[in-house]
Amino acid sequence: MLKLTIVSRNSPLALRQVAEVFALLPDVKYRLRTAPSYGDKHKNISLLDTPPPDIFTRELDRILLRRQADAAVHSAKDLPYPLPEGLAVIALLPAGDQRDALVSRNNLPLRKLPRGAVVGTSSPLRRQELLSRRPDLRIVSLRGNIGERLQKVDSGQMAAIVVAVCALRRLGLAGRIAEILPFPTHPLQGHLAVTARADRQNLRKIFQPLDTRRTWGRAALIGAGPGNPLLLTKQADIYLRQADIIFYDDLARNIVRDYAARKIYAGKRKGRQAYPQEILNEKLYQAVKAGYNVARLKGGDPFIFGRGGEELEYLQKRLVDVEIVPGITAASAAAAAARIPLTYRGRASSVALLSGHPAHKIKTPAADTLVYYMAGTTLPEISAKLRRSGLPPRTPAVCVLNASLPAQSIIRTTLKDLKRLKIKDPLILIVGRTAENNAKI
Ligand code: SAH
Repeated sequence: MLKLTIVSRNSPLALRQVAEVFALLPDVKYRLRTAPSYGDKHKNISLLDTPPPDIFTRELDRILLRRQADAAVHSAKDLPYPLPEGLAVIALLPAGDQRDALVSRNNLPLRKLPRGAVVGTSSPLRRQELLSRRPDLRIVSLRGNIGERLQKVDSGQMAAIVVAVCALRRLGLAGRIAEILPFPTHPLQGHLAVTARADRQNLRKIFQPLDTRRTWGRAALIGAGPGNPLLLTKQADIYLRQADIIFYDDLARNIVRDYAARKIYAGKRKGRQAYPQEILNEKLYQAVKAGYNVARLKGGDPFIFGRGGEELEYLQKRLVDVEIVPGITAASAAAAAARIPLTYRGRASSVALLSGHPAHKIKTPAADTLVYYMAGTTLPEISAKLRRSGLPPRTPAVCVLNASLPAQSIIRTTLKDLKRLKIKDPLILIVGRTAENNAKI
């Protein structure tokens, strides 16, 4: 008979959480091992400053990695991002109540607390929310297990505290709620998570029935290449064919035409963005949670000036697994179009990919070949900065517009004459010795 060793923190809430998980797996036997986390051992650390991200998991993570336990149960919102190498979330349980509650002396709601009252919270965001409604309050750091926290109110040390509704419910303390607060909470609040070593496939199978992510769709962050459909990778094509929804950028608009999925324009044209990044991130997340296979299609490569990193982080922090499909970046497409080797044995042994926008942030590092993206409105500034950094005025400079597309055009000039050019994005500027004339013969 299989018997697992489960590690948990020692608080009454943590123990309830373990019991709750295993009540759902009646056939699985387990032995409980408790261990105080770093945060349990250092109760003076304020969570309102910048606590270590693994403050509630460090010791338990180590126990798993040392193979002294099979799995750990956590409040999902306590997990550090990213998880330590070698660990994985093997189950994310469906959310309970995700809201926060106010517990106060005499059950007063927030608006009726006395002027200047002391209110405890462990979240800097909650502090902000509290102060935005009641700037007079004195917000202080709140630590300890739920019992110890409630004691701060009962002893008169604090007039009120903010606690997660689900924690109070789990402990049968819902009667202490004076008011449910309307504040947005951590996206994983109210979820329990089971972590284990990433290589424990058998454990994944045992916990899979509990994993709410079973019903989620897949997410892929896909590079579309420079625009010509022939430069799309086969892997990208497969994901795009399997997608239910494609969120696409302006530079990928030629590509999406070929696919049957629902298409949502998420690009930026003439400086106007279809959605602010934060809203787009949330739309991606909600679509995955609703069970759709989501393709996020970006021009070029998703990790080069595409804000792909932000989208990945947003989703991964919410425990969405994201596939990344690299794409041919505009620098490569422009170099191919203009026949400019970005490196060349003996002449150029380093390349820098740079942003030409905004003007005051243009960098001029000491690489042999410099490739500027988003340089459409800043060619004069780039030219001036590079000359000031010591590059000779006759250094070759080549602009490639619409690389790989029918409208492709190439302008070969020098650093000195670059400032006279007036051309429009999308263009790539390549500067360096290898950009001298290699035009087609
Ligand atoms: N992730 C993309 C870059 C996005 S930033 C990539 O890896 O290519 C947008 C910039 O990319 C544009 O301002 C332009 O500088 C460049 N770009 C994208 N496609 C291009 C193309 N077909 N031709 C020239 N430049 C292009």
